Amino acid sequence: MEREFEKLLKRFGEYGSKKGCEVVVRAWEFAKLAHAGQKRLTGDPYVSHPLEVAKILVGWRLDKTSVVAGFLHDTIEEGGAREADIIEEFGEEVARLVDGVTKITDIRLKGSKEKVFVENLRKMLLVMASDLRVVLVKLADRLHNMRTLAALSKEKQLENALETLEIYAPLAERLGIGEVKGKLEDLAFPYVYQKAYARVKKESRLRYVGAQEEIDMMKAELKKRLKKEKLVCRIAGRKKHLYSLWKKLERPEIDWNFDEINDIVALRIVVKRTVECYEALGIVHSIYKPVPHIGISDFIAQPKPNGYRSIHTKVFGPKGRVVEVQIRTEEMNEQAEYGIAAHWAYTEAKAGGAEDRVLEKGGVVAGRKLNWVKQLVNWQEEIKDSEEFLRAVKFDAFNHRNFVFSPKGDVYDLPSRATPVDYAFEVHTDLGNYIKGAKVNGRVVSLDYQLKSGDVVEIVKSKNPRKPGKNWLEFAVTTTARRKIKRAMEN
Ligand code: MN
Repeated sequence: MEREFEKLLKRFGEYGSKKGCEVVVRAWEFAKLAHAGQKRLTGDPYVSHPLEVAKILVGWRLDKTSVVAGFLHDTIEEGGAREADIIEEFGEEVARLVDGVTKITDIRLKGSKEKVFVENLRKMLLVMASDLRVVLVKLADRLHNMRTLAALSKEKQLENALETLEIYAPLAERLGIGEVKGKLEDLAFPYVYQKAYARVKKESRLRYVGAQEEIDMMKAELKKRLKKEKLVCRIAGRKKHLYSLWKKLERPEIDWNFDEINDIVALRIVVKRTVECYEALGIVHSIYKPVPHIGISDFIAQPKPNGYRSIHTKVFGPKGRVVEVQIRTEEMNEQAEYGIAAHWAYTEAKAGGAEDRVLEKGGVVAGRKLNWVKQLVNWQEEIKDSEEFLRAVKFDAFNHRNFVFSPKGDVYDLPSRATPVDYAFEVHTDLGNYIKGAKVNGRVVSLDYQLKSGDVVEIVKSKNPRKPGKNWLEFAVTTTARRKIKRAMEN
C-alpha cells in the first residue's frame, strides 16, 4: 500500500504544489491512524478504500483540498477520528467537505423513509451549492465502492447498484463527467438487470469485433492523411458503454436491431486548436463520405447545455458500415470526460486561486452547470411540500434530457415528454403568457406535442396576454411551467 501511495503522491506532484504534497502526506498518515485495525468486507485493510478514492481524485487532477477530503472522508463515520481533530489538523474547509460527503452518504432512496430521504436531499443540495467538490469526492467514493460491491450481501448489492443508477450516474451526467457516468452505470448494470446484462454482453461481442476491425483500418488511413496535412493529433477508438448500448437497443424504433446502432464504436480525433477540428473534419470527409441526413452535428458552434463540445460526423467506413467520428480539442476532451472536475484542476495549478475565479474560467459552461444547482436550491427553499420537491428533483434534474433550439439557435435543456408549453415557460414567463400556438421544425403542432432532441421550437405569440388553457396541467411536465400555470389560473 505504501508503494501505491508513493505513486499517488508522484502523480499529484505533477500538478500540485509542494505545500499540497506535504498536506497529502499528512492526510495519508491521519487516515491510517484513524482506520488502524479496521477491515473492509473484502478482507482488505480499511484504509485501502480512502487510498483508492484519493487515487481517483488525483486521476481527475483535483486540488489538494479534495484529495485530502478523499483520504479523510470515512475517518469520522467509520474510523476513530473526531471532527475537532480534522479541523485542527487540516482546517475548516476540509472538515466541511468531509461533513458534506457524510451527509450525502446518508441519503437512501429505497425504503419507506421517503421523508427522511427528501430532507437529506435538501441538505445535500445546500452542501453541493456551497461546494461542488463534495459531490466529486462522493462520486469517487461510490466508484470504488461499486468496484468492490461483490463483497456485500445480495440485498446491499442491489440497493447500492440501484441507487447508483438512479442518483449518482445521473448526477455525474449533469455535472458533465461523462466518463464517470458510463463507468458507474456499467458497474451497476449486472447487479440490477442481470438477464439484460448477459444478453447485451453476449449479442454485442461479435458486433464489437467487427466494428473494431473497421475502425482500425480507418485509424491507420486517417493517421497517414492527417500527418501529410501536418495536423498534430491523437486518434483513439472508443467503445460504447454496455449500459448505454442496452438503453439504446431497448428503444422501440431500434428494437434490438444492431444495424441501427452507429456508434457502438467511434473514432475520436483530438487536435490542439478549435480551427483544426474543422480542418480535420474536411480531411475525414474527403476520404469517407458523410451519411446523408444523419451526418454532422456541430456541438462546438452549439454546445450541449451540459457544456459538451465536439463535432460528430457519421460516415461510411471502408467496409460500408456507418461509423461515428468525433473531433475535438484536448481541452474539450478533458471537459467531456471530467466535466466540472476539469475546472477544479486549475485551482491546484494556480496554487490557491479563488474558487469563484476558477468557475468563471469555464465561462458559460461552468455557469450553466452551476445554474442547475442553484435552481435546485431555489426550489428547495420555495417548495415546502416534500412530495412536490421530490418530484421536481427526480423529474427535472435527473430524468433524460432533450435539447431543443429556439428559432435563433439558443439551446434549451428540457426533460423528456416536455411540450411547447414547457419550452415557452423555460424561455421566459412572458412568452408563456402569450402562447397562441406552436411550430416545431416549421410545422404547426398541438401544444401537447412531445418535443425531441434537435427540434426547433417556435411559439406563435398572441397580441395580448392570455390565461393558460384549462388542460395545460395535463401535459406540462417541468416544475417551472407547472408552477407558473397554477399561479396564473389562481389569479
Ligand atoms: Mn467511503
